[in-house]
Amino acid sequence: MAGVAYVNGRYLPLSEASVSIEDRGFQFADGIYEAWAVLGGKLADAAGHFERMERSLAELRMAQPMSRAALKLVILETLRRNRITEGFCYLQITRGQAPRDHGFPNPAVRPSLIITCKPVDYAAEARKSEKGVAVSTQPDIRWGRCDIKTVGLLPNVLAKQAAREAGAYEAWLVDSGGMVTEGSSTNAWIVDARGVLITRDTRANILRGVTRKHLMELAAELQMPVEERAFSVEEAKDAKEAFLTAASAFVTPITAIDGKQVGDGRPGPVAARLRAHYIDKARRGD
Ligand code: PLP
Repeated sequence: MAGVAYVNGRYLPLSEASVSIEDRGFQFADGIYEAWAVLGGKLADAAGHFERMERSLAELRMAQPMSRAALKLVILETLRRNRITEGFCYLQITRGQAPRDHGFPNPAVRPSLIITCKPVDYAAEARKSEKGVAVSTQPDIRWGRCDIKTVGLLPNVLAKQAAREAGAYEAWLVDSGGMVTEGSSTNAWIVDARGVLITRDTRANILRGVTRKHLMELAAELQMPVEERAFSVEEAKDAKEAFLTAASAFVTPITAIDGKQVGDGRPGPVAARLRAHYIDKARRGD
């Protein structure tokens, strides 16, 4: 049986059902999902799943695309079109389609809503259940692998948005020990009173920035000392300079941290020098 999906107001054959590649679900995992078992044509635990869906949306400050009653009608219609009375229904809502940028689209865009369903052979499931199943234990790393440049960027999105709402360009993320790890989409650097460049070491749970690595080589060429180590928010606020690095920002000076001026509150000479050298080398193709 050819499946039918609901996508943003339309019931479409699965082969034609699609969302934009600029959808924030695809780009950032900036969305929520919910799923129901369908038994005897009814959604099992319907209210419990709707309540959690509404909570998830509220936590992410995402608009609910339609009322709970309307959503239920659309789900039941999707099941009807698929002739499913015993099965499983999946719903996903994302923050919608917008040019890629971590912060929330401003103005807000229409959230994306998709619903798919599949038949389930509950008699076969019952046979499985009679036998029982095995589990294998695994470390709970959710999501503790910031070294992987994954598209699961929802925490980064929320941090960037919070920073923007605080009037800042970037968020600096702070670990449980009060030490800066990195930015939401950049690596973090400070320059101490001796002129030493300090950036978090890669034993920490951070992305190994390509710009960060290149800058360490550049610093060595320019005979600027670098220390890879943890630094606290207080140390950063008292630093001579602070800056961030990323392919999207090269070397960008930071003039304030949580409202406290860094140095004299103006872009510092070390960041400016590194930025100029970095761009110059990149233009020459080095
Ligand atoms: N840290 C995070 C979390 C990032 O997402 C990025 C870039 O996207 C960076 C650091 C900087 O990495 P790169 O210099 O490779 O662009």
